[in-house]
Amino acid sequence: MSAGTQYAGSNRPDDGHLCDYPGCRQSINAAFPMCTPHWRHVPELLRKVMFPRKPDDSGYQEALRQAIPAVREVVDKGRKK
Ligand SMILES: [Zn+2]
Repeated sequence: MSAGTQYAGSNRPDDGHLCDYPGCRQSINAAFPMCTPHWRHVPELLRKVMFPRKPDDSGYQEALRQAIPAVREVVDKGRKK
């Protein structure tokens, strides 16, 4: 709680976990499944199931499985240019 605001790019493993999107190394709050750039592309229907994050829940796992290709589609499109 002292001086210094380090958000983007800082690694604080004790703060949460890594983004659930494959290959993403962003460390994020434990309640969130994915980092903001990925989470924003998750369809709203899936977000409701995935938040707050429940890694041991089979419903969460299933929603994550569906969310990954949906996010990938948008991310890949953005990369093509
Ligand atoms: Zn991510």
